[in-house]
This record gives sequence, structure tokens and C-alpha cells, in this order.
Amino acid sequence: MKDSKTIEANITGIVQGVGFRPFLYNLARSLNLKGYILNRGNAGVRLVLQGFSANLNDFIENIKLKKPQISFIENVSIKSLNSIKKFDILAIKESEQGRGTSLTLPTDIAICETCLKDMRNPQMKKYYQYPFIACALCGPRFTTVKELPYDRERSTMIEFPFCTHAEPISCIKEYSDFNNRRFHAQTFSCSVCGPHYTLYDREGEVTQEKQIEDILVEITRRLNGGDVLAIKGIGGTHLVCLANDKNILKLRKRKGERKYKPFAVMVPNLDIVRDSLKISLEEREILNSFRRPIVLLEKKNNGDESKMSNQIAPGLNNIGIMLPYSGIHHLLFDFIGEKPLIYTSGNKSSIPMAIENTKIIEQLKDLADIFLLHNRQIYQRVDDSVLRMHDSKVKLIRRSRGFVPEYLSLPFEVDISSAIATGPELMTTGAILRRNRIFQTQHIGHVTHLETYDFLKESLFHMQNLLQVKDAEIEFIACDLHPAFITTQIAQEFSSKFNVDLYQIQHHYAHILSLMAENDVKIDEKIVGICTDGIGYGTDGNIWGGEIILSDYNKFQRIGHLENQPMIGGDRCTKYPARMAASIILNKFGIDEASKIFNKIEIIND
Ligand SMILES: [Zn+2]
Ligand SMILES: [Zn+2]
Repeated sequence: MKDSKTIEANITGIVQGVGFRPFLYNLARSLNLKGYILNRGNAGVRLVLQGFSANLNDFIENIKLKKPQISFIENVSIKSLNSIKKFDILAIKESEQGRGTSLTLPTDIAICETCLKDMRNPQMKKYYQYPFIACALCGPRFTTVKELPYDRERSTMIEFPFCTHAEPISCIKEYSDFNNRRFHAQTFSCSVCGPHYTLYDREGEVTQEKQIEDILVEITRRLNGGDVLAIKGIGGTHLVCLANDKNILKLRKRKGERKYKPFAVMVPNLDIVRDSLKISLEEREILNSFRRPIVLLEKKNNGDESKMSNQIAPGLNNIGIMLPYSGIHHLLFDFIGEKPLIYTSGNKSSIPMAIENTKIIEQLKDLADIFLLHNRQIYQRVDDSVLRMHDSKVKLIRRSRGFVPEYLSLPFEVDISSAIATGPELMTTGAILRRNRIFQTQHIGHVTHLETYDFLKESLFHMQNLLQVKDAEIEFIACDLHPAFITTQIAQEFSSKFNVDLYQIQHHYAHILSLMAENDVKIDEKIVGICTDGIGYGTDGNIWGGEIILSDYNKFQRIGHLENQPMIGGDRCTKYPARMAASIILNKFGIDEASKIFNKIEIIND
């Protein structure tokens, strides 16, 4: 062919599970290019393409311009090949294992508008009211994928082979047709071949199965009657009820939580909260994004309490709101109407959410009245992410679904192949370093129980596996300085297992280091940081709390701090701040005077 050229292109970034291969295939096809497209695990996507020079140039130009919305391109490298081989067809080749310093797998993606329309369209038969509907651009990813490269056989969807005869078109036909929006999508299915919901009572007996419409009618009846429903979803289980005072108090009592513990609320649209909460443009945007986090929205002064009960977050000036992100959420609101729902993690205090059906019922039978469970395995448990907007910037409070496994970049080059950090004890996430990138695990919670201990270890090993980090590449382990933290014990285990050094980092210095990295502080710069976080084990063996720290990336100096105080019950002061106040009063006034003060302010009762 005259003026024909062959090129090899290697693309890295989030280029798997976001409709990238189908996009490349159709772009190449439209330009009459031949050759192949190959998924190479963490090494990204490789293409070998042959065609007219002008068409190849068009192709390269359009990769970044027309890429799927959720994909993220880190790098495109192109080289010419002096190929004498002539390609007759364009093909998507079978994936191969490849290693790189990045991770090509995306986070879980909220159901897209097109799938939502199909789910509500009776003509679509196999998708009508089918809550697990998904496509190349939406659906669960991180929670379902066991390992890379990203293909159905390495995901929990392996148990649901594509159907061959469903109406109006079979799943295998959709998968194979380059004009279909499910061409080469990996985690979709339909009501004929895919997972299903079943309704159970507290004893684990089936009360409704198969017909989703019957199930939804029954759920609506039970929710309107004041029952609490446990729903297994994308990355875990939620406890759900109508957001009225009576239900909220009942649920809080059943969970054994303190009277001011707030709940998250799911609403079908933001109009419902307009009269009670303030919503900025940025908050609206992130709430509606494919990440669908819980966003803390400020309560309006004299806001409409009839629409947003004060019991949801008593004593706080904000409420955590999220929008529906999976098919079942939308169906729920289609049936129950435009009412806010309490949508809180289905777990007992400090224990991770159960994700296996029998364990869900076992763990939640005193909390929920009915159980809506599906038969797809949740491979990775993820909680809903929680954030607030501050000066138009996202401030993450809990980083999980919709964000994991995306990485954070350090603002300097790092000559370390890999390292593992186990974090502190409360509100923990683990992390794996890969060169200058930090891959955090999903939110783990308080590592104070065997279940969270296992969860942290499993999540770290899963991340290591996704990143294809070999044991021999791990150069050190990092953890908190506190000798009694369970996370410190895990770090010690890892240090022996991988036969590498263990670095224990002072808690407040670690916070300042995070701030430095987040704010692009350069490798040779120093900062003065103020850390008023809870308590942290100090380098002098005392418990610190409230530090002014002069810090660079190698060392720190504690140049100022709050006065030392006795702590009644030690670390329990972080959980019960009244204990800290009592300690200070006792220290200052002595026992007789302090007792009088305690009686007056009823501190003893808390
Ligand atoms: Zn979709
Ligand atoms: Zn099917």
C-alpha cells in the first residue's frame, strides 16, 4: 500500500474498565487502520496500527481529544515500526500480563444516564427494572476485579457467563458488536444471565425472590411501615429506613450509638434538600459526579425541618448527603417516591461491614427487619466516601468508593521501588508506595478488632497484587510510633516477613508530612506546621497532643506544644473528650474543687 506506515503506540493511565479498548477500536476502524489492540495489565494498552500516514496522525491526535470521559491518560508514546508484515484486519487481542509503576484499574463508577434510561424502559425487556445493568462506561470495577489485566474471567462476574438468547439482544452479541455500547465491556449482565436480588427475613428465610417488582412493592410497604432494611450493594451493606425522627431514634438505639452520632442520607434529587441545606455549584457537581460520595452540606439557618429531620445530625451544622449510584437505589426511589432515606453503613461499631450473605444476616439481625441481598460476590469491601468542599476544593474525610484505587503523587522523584505503610489505629487506611506514587487502600476504620486487623492486611495484599509489586521489591515498612497500636504489630510482622527495616513515624509529624506532600512542598523546603489532631505517642515516650513542628521530609523539631496534662483512662480520652476536660480541671483545681465543678456541669454522667 502506497504511503502506508506502521506504528506502535503505548498508552498508560486509567485505560482499562472505562471503555478505552472499544474507543480505540472504533477510532482506528473509522480511519481504516489495521493491526491490533492489546491490554497489558499495569503496563497499559499497546496498539500496533497500519494505514495511511494522515490517518495515523489523525488517530494519534484524537486519542486525547475524544477519549472516554472517565479514562485518564498519563502518557502516550509512539514509535514507527519498519514492519514488512501486512495486517488485513483490526483486532482486539487477548490480554497479557504487563508490569508498570501505575495502576490502570478505575474506581467503581455510578450507573450512567443511558443505562438508567434502559432500566426504566419496558421495551428493553432483559434490562427493564434490572438493578445490575451496566455498560463499558459504568458499573462496579474496584470492588469486583480480583486481579489485572481487567477481564471478566478475573472478576466476580466469572460466575455469570453471558447469555446467548435474551431479548431484544443477547449479552454475547452486545459484547461482540463494535457498534454496541457494551462492546468489550467486562462487568455487565442482564436479568437472564446476571446476578439477582432476593428478600430474606431475620432468620435467613427467603420471603420474596426472582420478581424484582414484587420485591420492590414489599420493600416499599415495609419501609413505609417503619421497618429497617439491610441492602447489599456495590461494596458493602447499608441499613436503610425513612428519615423520620422515630426511625432515626430506633436505628441509633439498635446500633447502640451515642445520641449525637450522625447518619448519612440518600435523596433521589437535590431539590428535596434545597429548603434545608446550602448547596454550592461545586458541591452539586461532585454530588452528581461518577464518584457519588457523601458530601457534608451546611444546614440553613431556620431551614425546613419537616424535610430534613434535626435528628439526622443533632448538634452539627451539616448533614452528609448522597445521590443514588446504583440501579437498586434508583428503583427504590421509583417505588417509594421522593423521600429522603437514612443510608448508613450496615455494621456494628468498629467492625467492618459484612459482605457475605450469611454473615450479613448474622451481623445485622438485631439491627434490620428485612434483608435485600444479591448473589454476586463483593470482592473488595468499600464504604461510601465522605468529603466536604472547602474554598472550592475537595477535602476528603473518608476516602473509599469512587476514589480507590486512584493514587496520590509525591512532589519529587523517589528512588524506592516499593514500601508499605500500615497507618495509625483509628480511622486507618493502609498505603503502598510505588516510586513517587502512593496507592491508599480503601477506608479500613478503627483497627481495634480482629476483623479490622484482617481487613487491613487483606486490603494491603490486594493492592500489592493489583500493583504487581513483588515481595523482593518492598524496601521498608512504615507505621505509627505508638508501641501498643495493632497497626504497629502488623508493621512488625511485615518487617519480619519481607526482611526489611521498619520506620516508626511520630503521629503529628506524619500529619505534617501529608500536608507538605498535598501542598507540593519541594524536597529541600522546610515548613512550620501546627497539628492539633488528637493524641500521638511522642518521641520522649509521653503522649503528645497539639504540636508546633518545624519540619522537612527527613526530620522534625517540636518547637512548641500544649502543656502536658494527665489523661484519665489514657487513649479513651480521644473517644470521650469529656475525660480530657475532667483531667485538666482535676489537675488545675485538685480533687475537692474539681468534684464540685463536675457535679455542676454533670460531666460525671458522660
Ligand atoms: Zn452505563
Ligand atoms: Zn444476558
